[in-house]
Amino acid sequence: MSEDDRRGFGARLEIVAIGEELLGGETVDTNAAWLGRTLKGAGLRVVRRATVGDDVAAIRAAVREALTRVSVVLCTGGLGPTRDDVTLDAVAGLAGVRLEESETLVRELQRRFAARGLTMPEINRRQARVPAGATVFPNPRGTAPGLAIAVGDGQVLLLPGVPQEMRAITEASVLPFLQRQWPASVRPETRVLRTTGIAESSLAERVEDVVATLTDLEVAFLPGYEGVDVRLTSWGGATDALDAAVAALASRLERWLYTVGLESLEEVVAAELVRRGRRLVVAESCTGGLLAKRLTDLPGSSRYLLAGWVAYVNRAKELFLAVPPSLLADHGAVSEQAVRAMAEGGLRFPDADYAVAITGVAGPSGGTVEKPVGTVWIAVAGAGQTVARRLLLPGDRAEIRDRSAQAALHLLLRQLRREGRGHDHAQ
Ligand code: AMP
Ligand code: MG
Repeated sequence: MSEDDRRGFGARLEIVAIGEELLGGETVDTNAAWLGRTLKGAGLRVVRRATVGDDVAAIRAAVREALTRVSVVLCTGGLGPTRDDVTLDAVAGLAGVRLEESETLVRELQRRFAARGLTMPEINRRQARVPAGATVFPNPRGTAPGLAIAVGDGQVLLLPGVPQEMRAITEASVLPFLQRQWPASVRPETRVLRTTGIAESSLAERVEDVVATLTDLEVAFLPGYEGVDVRLTSWGGATDALDAAVAALASRLERWLYTVGLESLEEVVAAELVRRGRRLVVAESCTGGLLAKRLTDLPGSSRYLLAGWVAYVNRAKELFLAVPPSLLADHGAVSEQAVRAMAEGGLRFPDADYAVAITGVAGPSGGTVEKPVGTVWIAVAGAGQTVARRLLLPGDRAEIRDRSAQAALHLLLRQLRREGRGHDHAQ
């Protein structure tokens, strides 16, 4: 038994995406992504993808090679009525079968055109050609049907490239067809641990020994610049093992973990504020309202967000947040003193329990030797204290702003959780 079979990965297939426009980058291959996701949800595992142009030899080589590894190959693209669409000819040639015009399909095509008051152009007859012995999957959204063609011991499934048509045929016919081939295939179960404020490599080091014990689970580290998601997948219905793994990883990642699930950081923060009945104000400089935007993207945000200021120039920090001009003159607008004063000034707003402040150098200009681009101060005032952190962020202006808002939300979440545990844990 192969390693894959032992782990319940019996239902393996490969995708060959066909089209010059995919190679040239004019079209992004969303079909393969959608197929991977959809098939995985049905317990069918895509183990490799290839992309080739509209070229008979290239298509044949890719399909033939895939069939040396798996018994089912899914092709998309190149089924149009024009001469540049050669997928069908390529695969029929590989199967050693002739293409025959299907009377039924011709009538079906004529009917489709007639329904729109049109006469079928002769070239559409190309799309009514079916290899002898093939299974035809009707196309509810267009003219090219899907096909399943036997090639040696394997099966090659052809789907049109137009995403809506490919999806419709897959859902209506291909999934049931594949599930008949692998009736016992298990559906994967997934847990996602979402973290922020820790680099992928540090995170991996921290959980290395735990991960080494998770031999029956698939573990993926998915970094983005707002954080790293750790995705655990079980293909064997091992729910207990999955939950135990989540608990083991969570205890290592507590400080950085904001959810086990798919919520965004702002959703988690919002839920925490609502649960505790706390209300927030935000005072932003370099993020220009991004934090307020993220918090107000959520419906019902007036339950926890009272106000926000974009205090961009010094005068705004003085007028909106009562930051003393002398403080700004002495320490600068990007300083621990300034960010604390901004947060504490914001907290004076009626009924505010917490205030978050952000001030920094988002660049590309404005950096100095002491305060290079990416220097950002964040602060959270509330529950009787103010905590401030300096960040040195990489990336361009947009990335620095996004990371700043993310770090501020994270600091707020930590303060909220700390409030719940009492102050003895304050560092
Ligand atoms: P075709 O079936 O090759 O004639 O493709 C028709 C149209 O579908 C193309 O013009 C592309 O815009 C689109 N298409 C083809 N392949 C893909 C793919 N893999 N992902 C997304 N769109 C595609
Ligand atoms: Mg094409």
